[in-house]
Amino acid sequence: MRLVMASANPHKTVEIAEVLVEAMPDVELVARPSDLGDVAEDGSTLAENALIKARFVCSAAGEPAIADDTGLEVDALGGAPGVHSARYAGPQADAGANLAKLMAALRDVLDPLRTARFRTVVAVVFPDGNEVLANGVVEGHIALTARGDGGFGYDPVFVPDEAASLTFAQMPAADKNRISHRGRALRALVERL
Ligand code: IMP
Repeated sequence: MRLVMASANPHKTVEIAEVLVEAMPDVELVARPSDLGDVAEDGSTLAENALIKARFVCSAAGEPAIADDTGLEVDALGGAPGVHSARYAGPQADAGANLAKLMAALRDVLDPLRTARFRTVVAVVFPDGNEVLANGVVEGHIALTARGDGGFGYDPVFVPDEAASLTFAQMPAADKNRISHRGRALRALVERL
C-alpha cells in the first residue's frame, strides 16, 4: 500500500516511517508534495484535526494519505495544552516558546502533581472516501527541568511512566517508538487496516 504523509515535520515523519515500516513491511511511504500549501487545523479535537490534514492531502495527491495529531494533556492545567499544543504560546510559537510557557505554568506544581499524557490520533483517508482512525496514549509526568537532546517538541520534559526517570528526549528513538503515543496509535491503525 502507498501512503502519502500529510505531515512535513521531519521528526514526526521519521517516527511514523520507523514504526510503520516495522508494523507493515509492504507499506510504501511517500513524502508530502512540496508544492502543497498548509491547511488550517481548526478542528476542536485531535481526531478532527487528523482528518482535516489527511483529507486535504488525499484529495490533493489522489492517493491514500496518513496524518497524525497529537496533544499533551497536563492534569494540573486541566488538560491543557491538549488540542492546542502546537500553538500553546501563540500562533507563531516554536517548540522552545511552548516549552517555556509550560514550565512557567507548572513552576509551583510539586512533582507528584505533574502527571500528564501524550495522546495521538492517526487517520488514513482513501480516495474512495474510506477513513480509518486509531488512538494511542502514553502516561507520564512533566519533569522539573528539561533533559536530553533527542526527539522534538515537548520531549525534553516528558517522563513516561514506563521508562524509569528518562525523558523521551533522553531515549534512543526505538525506545520512544515502543511506548509512545504515536507508536501505539500507528500499531493500532495497522491492526485496523
Ligand atoms: P501536532 O500534532 O503537529 O499538531 O503537534 C502538536 C504539538 O505537540 C506540537 O507542538 C509538537 O511539537 C508537539 N508534539 C507532537 N508530537 C510530539 C512528540 O512525540 N513529542 C513531543 N512533542 C510532540
